[in-house]
Amino acid sequence: MSTAECKFDFKPKPDALKERTILVTGAGDGIGKAAALAYARLGATVILLGKTQEKLEAVYDEIEANHGAQPAIIPLNLETATEHDYQLITQQVEETFGKLDGLLHNASLLGKLTLIEQYPADTWMQIMQVNVNAQFLLTKALLPQMKKSEEASIIFTSSSVGRKGRAHWGAYAVSKFATEGLMQTLADELSATSNIRVNSINPGATRTKMRADAYPAEEPSTLRPADEIMGTYLYLMCSDSRERSGRIFDAQPPR
Ligand code: NDP
Repeated sequence: MSTAECKFDFKPKPDALKERTILVTGAGDGIGKAAALAYARLGATVILLGKTQEKLEAVYDEIEANHGAQPAIIPLNLETATEHDYQLITQQVEETFGKLDGLLHNASLLGKLTLIEQYPADTWMQIMQVNVNAQFLLTKALLPQMKKSEEASIIFTSSSVGRKGRAHWGAYAVSKFATEGLMQTLADELSATSNIRVNSINPGATRTKMRADAYPAEEPSTLRPADEIMGTYLYLMCSDSRERSGRIFDAQPPR
């Protein structure tokens, strides 16, 4: 795998995402919430997709309070969503916005940290469903709307354990390797035939619920909060990254 690039210090123009519609999964909490707020701050209309409606509504209210463009909310459980649910999303995006300029695949589950030999099969299936299969289904459903954009960007969320395997990280690590594979395959398919770029970001250690679940003994104040790692997330949605596709990125410089 090639070396990751990092745009931690990227400073976009204030209205860099005006007139753009961007869908963020897992937008109710953690890194997804920070990204949705950051995109809205640059003028984007954000579609907030996530499992818990109240969390999405809180982000919606925060965007409105900041005088951002009116967002949309799509409550969806990626574990149980069917192809029909994804078709309804396609329809909603088509009817309301006509096109889609950005798609941040951010929602994920951590699952269990244990040996492969002891990994519960049902948890394995659940993690692969949310972290991989749902990304495939949502991407497939939304490609027609993204092809209508002058330049569109798809970002997949990886992890350091999706670039080098690590004991005990089980389905989560394997799902992140699959995410990198989906990113590379899609980027290669779209490079010659569309204006859609496709890249992946490894956020690095970030102060969120998932991180606290994975490292319960860690002091959260030693980690950057999600809103301080947005440089690369913004870079990949802004026109500055137009020529970048099939690349891997880190959101934070090495610690
Ligand atoms: P959080 O657990 O804080 O947030 C995850 C988000 O995903 C939540 O909004 C959650 O919604 C949503 N989500 C989970 N399951 C589903 C589902 N079945 N359907 C719909 N939405 C769902 O995680 P982070 O913000 O820490 O992580 C964001 C991304 O960054 C993930 O892909 C993670 O793997 C990756 N990452 C994070 C790192 C870190 O240090 N934080 C390091 C490396 C990678 P709800 O709250 O409603 O359940």
